[in-house]
Amino acid sequence: MINSDSMSPTQSFKRIWKNYGKEHLFSFIIANLFMILIAGTTALYPIVIDYAFLSLEEANWSKIIFIPVFIILLTFIKGAALYKQTVIINTLVQTIIFKIQSSLFNSLLKLDLDVINAIRVGNLQARIMNDVNLMKEALIRSFNNLVRDLFTLIGLIISMFWLNWTLALAVIIVYPLAVFPIVKIGKRSRSLSNLMQEHIGKSSAFVTESFSGIRLIKSYQLEDVQNKKANTYFEELKKIIIKVISTRAGLEPVMEIIGGIAISLVILLAGWQIVSGTSTVGEFSGFISALLIAVGPARALGTLNSVLQEGTAAANRVFGGIDSRSKVIDDGNAEEIKTFKGNISFKNIIYNYSDKNIAALDNINLEIVAGETIAVVGPSGSGKSTLVNLLLRFFDPYSGDVLIDGKNLKNIKISSLRKNIAIVSQDTLLFHGTVSDNIAFGNQNAKQLDIESSAKEAEADNFIKLLPDGYETMIGENGANLSGGERQRIAIARAILRDPAILILDEPTSSLDSEAEDKIKQTLSSISKNRTTIIIAHRLSTVTNSNRIIVLDKGKISAIGNHDELLEKSSLYKKLALLQNIE
Ligand code: ADP
Repeated sequence: MINSDSMSPTQSFKRIWKNYGKEHLFSFIIANLFMILIAGTTALYPIVIDYAFLSLEEANWSKIIFIPVFIILLTFIKGAALYKQTVIINTLVQTIIFKIQSSLFNSLLKLDLDVINAIRVGNLQARIMNDVNLMKEALIRSFNNLVRDLFTLIGLIISMFWLNWTLALAVIIVYPLAVFPIVKIGKRSRSLSNLMQEHIGKSSAFVTESFSGIRLIKSYQLEDVQNKKANTYFEELKKIIIKVISTRAGLEPVMEIIGGIAISLVILLAGWQIVSGTSTVGEFSGFISALLIAVGPARALGTLNSVLQEGTAAANRVFGGIDSRSKVIDDGNAEEIKTFKGNISFKNIIYNYSDKNIAALDNINLEIVAGETIAVVGPSGSGKSTLVNLLLRFFDPYSGDVLIDGKNLKNIKISSLRKNIAIVSQDTLLFHGTVSDNIAFGNQNAKQLDIESSAKEAEADNFIKLLPDGYETMIGENGANLSGGERQRIAIARAILRDPAILILDEPTSSLDSEAEDKIKQTLSSISKNRTTIIIAHRLSTVTNSNRIIVLDKGKISAIGNHDELLEKSSLYKKLALLQNIE
């Protein structure tokens, strides 16, 4: 959905450089200078060997003693240059990758809710961590191989020509044989890499969902079922990874065999030249060492294409994510509204999710008066959450309008709309941080006094004060060290602190035991006063006291009334009540 598969390796590299790398040109140049120094010092080895043979033949002691000193000096220079180059290139690539990761995260976070739901969280996670990592590998390899190894090879070829041009020519003719398999294997790597990333995404989505639904899994004793499913995912992934590795491994023997052909050819030619007296053993030894030194960089360059193709497949997915834009955006004339009264109208609303043929909401007309508390009930899938999502403009209706205080949502700034609405839902998300941080989550500049008074109103102050560090107590990643009721009270305090004109209670008590539920219900009804409140409920017991209950059925309003009226006139409501033993 948010892939772009059009860029070639060169195009993706250009984009990376233009958007993220260009300002680091200076360190890039310095790294290249070090790489050229590495290439130059490496290319000198064969010549030193030839020189050593010559000195040995001449039995010239003053020349012989000079050679080890020179070699040590050479290795010192090369070692230092290697160190500097590695540090500079890795720092550069990490900096570029950090920027890419950050803009990808930023773009994905701003996507519309329906798109995010369709992609699945684990997939997004795989994109941000894995794909970006593949890009990093490809970038490091390209920088290192394209300059350092290529220059080293060029340097070695120059040395070879300097030592013996006929042998050098023979080598140069053999190596292009590798191009055909390299290109073929590269292409296969790219398509396999796409497949692999898709599977990593799916597996990662499965893992994320398993752990976020851990309570359900444990309570239904689904561990073994999940385990089996996980194994199917991992097994499939294993097969694809083995394919990727086997494809890539095909290159090593190709490079090895071509190296073997080159060395055999050189021995044959050199042997003939030495026998006929046109070449020396020194030249031959220097030449063979040049060939052996060249094996490493030649192999790295040979396998570079595969890594590049994999990196490009990842870059296409990453840039697809970075380029994706939310459809819900502020209109140029959108108004900033400080406070709402809280009148809400849904007018002729039709909405259907892009992958469904049936409308999730089908011609909804509903007026809610400021300060009113209404309840929305209906079977699962009847459209309750979709209704709320439209009110928050998580997405826009296919047709029809949502208005607050007579103003179309499309003409209100999204930030001011969302500032005036707070949700307390069944899955209370507490973030890693202190209790205060969690209450102030939607209100970064809140004063401690206000945080505490919201907590008092949510009746959370008492238990917070008993925590080891009071309001400064750290809460685990998902607030695991608090009870369900306590977590819910923190969520309520968070909503109160925003002082919203509109409050949405999305089954906030559904995961609580009945004692905790009764207490929370009292708190909720006290904070609902003077606010437009929409209660979404699966369980009718939550809403039997409401003056107005809307019954949704398959995206349509099938009845409106209070509990007693609905028991009379709505067969669906009656059925739901019977199922839940409510009279
Ligand atoms: P409820 O909150 O009453 O359970 P929803 O508003 O979640 O109902 O769903 C209404 C309809 O829209 C259902 O048919 C559901 O399958 C569908 N739906 C909900 N969310 C999505 C989504 N992210 N993608 C596709 N279809 C969805």
